Amino acid sequence: MDFLDTVPTGLLIGAEWREADAAGRFVVEDPATGDPLTDVADGGPAEMIAALDEASRAQESWAATAPRVRSDLLRAAYDEVVRRADDFALLITLEMGKPLAESRGEVRYGAEFLRWFSEEAVRVGGRWARSPEGTTRLLTMKDPVGPTLMITPWNFPLAMATRKIAPAIAAGCTMVLKPAEQTPLTALAFAALLRSVGLPPGVLNVVTTTRAAEAIPPLLRDPRLRKLTFTGSTAVGRQLMAQASAQLLRISMELGGNAPLLVLGDADIDRAVAGAMLAKMRNIGQACTAANRILVHESVADEFGSRFAAAMAAQRLGRGTDPNVDVGPLIDERARNKVTELVSDALARGARVLTGGSPLEGTGYFFEPTVLTDVGDHRITREELFGPVAPISTFGTDDEAIALANATEYGLASYVFSQDMSRILNVVERLQFGMVGVNQGVVSNAAAPFGGVKHSGFGREGGAEGIEEYLSTKYVGIAP
Ligand code: NAD
Repeated sequence: MDFLDTVPTGLLIGAEWREADAAGRFVVEDPATGDPLTDVADGGPAEMIAALDEASRAQESWAATAPRVRSDLLRAAYDEVVRRADDFALLITLEMGKPLAESRGEVRYGAEFLRWFSEEAVRVGGRWARSPEGTTRLLTMKDPVGPTLMITPWNFPLAMATRKIAPAIAAGCTMVLKPAEQTPLTALAFAALLRSVGLPPGVLNVVTTTRAAEAIPPLLRDPRLRKLTFTGSTAVGRQLMAQASAQLLRISMELGGNAPLLVLGDADIDRAVAGAMLAKMRNIGQACTAANRILVHESVADEFGSRFAAAMAAQRLGRGTDPNVDVGPLIDERARNKVTELVSDALARGARVLTGGSPLEGTGYFFEPTVLTDVGDHRITREELFGPVAPISTFGTDDEAIALANATEYGLASYVFSQDMSRILNVVERLQFGMVGVNQGVVSNAAAPFGGVKHSGFGREGGAEGIEEYLSTKYVGIAP
């Protein structure tokens, strides 16, 4: 692939692409074959600090850049990502495994954050008021938070980066990005694209590493860093929050999920099956928004179960670069082992297989699209599944469904299918989740606030809220 050869594989520190000091490199593999794609520089604590040196040097002038300049730059980046959508899609498929059609979807979704925040960059305002006693004037203004550390996961290699980088650019923050070690290439290619459309040196620095646990803590202790934004697992998020307390950093946490998908007794079953397919199978089930628990009213459970199982059984597995493939491999052996373990545990406790149930022999980390029924309160409904497995449980009343849905420490996405608006409102108002999809299996949209409650974290990405994560409020009292 020509484009792969053009992707930088060094560390972006200031204006330079460079090697790690210890000259270490690590291999990036294709999860469909286990074959190496290329290798990239393996940065450590020294490179992280060098990146922060550049970010903090660039911060003042970057914050002073006219909003229109930052807006135009984001728009130029959007146009360029769209123009090179096929290249980015192929790169995502190669390093992450999802089918090309889905990678194209991620490129469109990821690019939308660039367009959305190019529009938001010129709309940052403040307030002006008389104090209640009339003796002073109250002016509020917004300042960029400052140098920001961004840590992203492997499951959406482009979108998880643009969802953070675009609002930071719009707000005037400089950045150090640490992409996931499984999928660093898309982030590196995107960083090169940003430089090519005029992003000044030092505004975005990218350090790839296999040694995050060693390389990140010195950065979090450095007083020049002002914010941490993390997307990844709850366990790592919790650890990072503790480390970030030393410098009292502003924090945004986009963590794990355990989404319920409720099919009420009056649901349109066609829509519910189509919605469940999307909510479950997007990204091969490896999405924080993935429907992990399908909760179906007992009156429609058999019909829903058999139609959903038929749709899952019809999915074609294979390497994502094949246009006839619907479902790619899981990211690695560890991920597949975890899915296998959760399925075995559920089966041992009385769940039944409607379709699938096993890992595939041979190369790549494939697992059959699987539907389980008669699933109770097992590990599979408590832990984040991250695979193409749908556990179905049944309920009798809406109250019971809501109680089951909320019985998790997570609170990211949830879904409800019904045709009765007052029932829908009753359920929506009582669901303890940051996002609810009503009669639809996808909630992500650049114009909407993405984020969770409870152990799924806090902070919002996208929407009018997204830029606020990168701004702090300054109040000025003015005597007239
Ligand atoms: P992960 O927590 O293992 O890794 C996420 C990132 O953190 C990676 O870049 C990784 O290298 C880094 N990391 C790991 N240990 C670290 C440490 N000790 N110090 C600093 N950085 C460290 O998660 P993952 O497996 O890459 O991604 C899957 C998880 O991400 C799932 O739990 C999923 O739900 C979550 N996720 C959440 C959202 C959201 O918006 N809420 C979106 C996508 C993924």
